[in-house]
Amino acid sequence: VKSNPDLIIENGLLLTLVEGDEPFQRATLLVRGDRITGILGSGEERPSIKGVQVLDATDCLIMPGLVNAHGHTAMTLFRGLADDLPLKQWLFEKIFPAEAAHLSEETVYWGALLGCLEMIASGTTTVSDGYFFQDGTARAFEKAGIRALVAQGVIDFPAPGVPDPARNLAVGKAFIERWERASELIRPGLFCHSLTTCSDKTLQEAMALCLEFSLPLQIHLSETKEEAEEVIRRTGKRPVAHLGDLGLLNESLIGVHAIHLEDEEIDFLASNKIKVVHCPESNMKLASGMARVTEMVKKGIVLGLGTDGSASNNDLDLFKEMDTAAKLGKVRTLDPVTLGAATVVKMATAWGAEVLGLEKEIGTIEVGKKADIITLDLGKPHLVPLYNPLSTIVYSASGADVKDVIVNGKVLMKDRAFTALDADEVLARVREISEKIRS
Ligand SMILES: [Zn+2]
Repeated sequence: VKSNPDLIIENGLLLTLVEGDEPFQRATLLVRGDRITGILGSGEERPSIKGVQVLDATDCLIMPGLVNAHGHTAMTLFRGLADDLPLKQWLFEKIFPAEAAHLSEETVYWGALLGCLEMIASGTTTVSDGYFFQDGTARAFEKAGIRALVAQGVIDFPAPGVPDPARNLAVGKAFIERWERASELIRPGLFCHSLTTCSDKTLQEAMALCLEFSLPLQIHLSETKEEAEEVIRRTGKRPVAHLGDLGLLNESLIGVHAIHLEDEEIDFLASNKIKVVHCPESNMKLASGMARVTEMVKKGIVLGLGTDGSASNNDLDLFKEMDTAAKLGKVRTLDPVTLGAATVVKMATAWGAEVLGLEKEIGTIEVGKKADIITLDLGKPHLVPLYNPLSTIVYSASGADVKDVIVNGKVLMKDRAFTALDADEVLARVREISEKIRS
């Protein structure tokens, strides 16, 4: 006898996103604890159990929660502070000074909580974050109930919370040790800012640390043409070849952006099974360039989708990001067939999970997997009629259409009302912090 569920999501159009599965009409999901324990079709009676929480998904799509594979969540604090500037000027004249002046574990905590509200409200259930004062971020994610890879930022400059760059890896290691087993939802890691802001030695030591703990190492890779040129000037090699020389091309590495790549670099990433995260809106806004996503997908590279920080996007809505990824891929290649809705949805779910090493737990709806589930209200003018749910998700829906959000079996948003966080308090605290940043 199956043990009783404690959460039932019923009567929705279920998209499991398991390869080969068709959409199920009037499906019901059973959840017990943190896991999906049953999927019932339209003909099957659901168990009627007293006291069990039931979410009615009539006229709703049920699908896996989205995976934001790259972000700097607490940068919500700087949303709209400095826009329409060249990346170098934006970063060195605006963002780095604002971070130096205003970041603390406390401000990072509130900024990350604001990001959690926004992500939950737009259907993101897992996020990969890289920033500073990461105890603040990890505490915020844990409080919000969101699943996360939380990576301590590593950079060879004085950084927020790490005034002495010689200690950046000691700080990273201590963070990993504090969070390695502290939370069911949080996995720690390291985030090296880039090949031009971290020394070769720092990069190698960061990788050694990540391998020691079997954790991922994220890095911004070839985000700008200038960055790639700087690496070539210094080393005589293109960035991916240089990463290879440093011994960094192993399965722990997650390359973020990966825009300015030559064919042989794509081949090199593919043959070394390096995962890549595409952040189209940030890349467009900072005019960094257009990643060669079609070519990477063809070579079998596993790609996730990320929003990047909300100072360069300026929102955390992965539905919008999917739409942008598909359209940017088409306009870059002048091919309307490339990067179809099915591929882009995978990037935001199953592939994103694989990028973070979580594919056994999340990314699809299957019995035994973690209950990270969202429902989408299909009863809206812009979502009618419904011919192809994947097209609807990518080209018509937005995060505002998300109705319910469940992470690890826990309902975090029900009928668009937050159940775990006090949104008014978070907004008030971030507005207070923003008054100081503005002055
Ligand atoms: Zn980034």
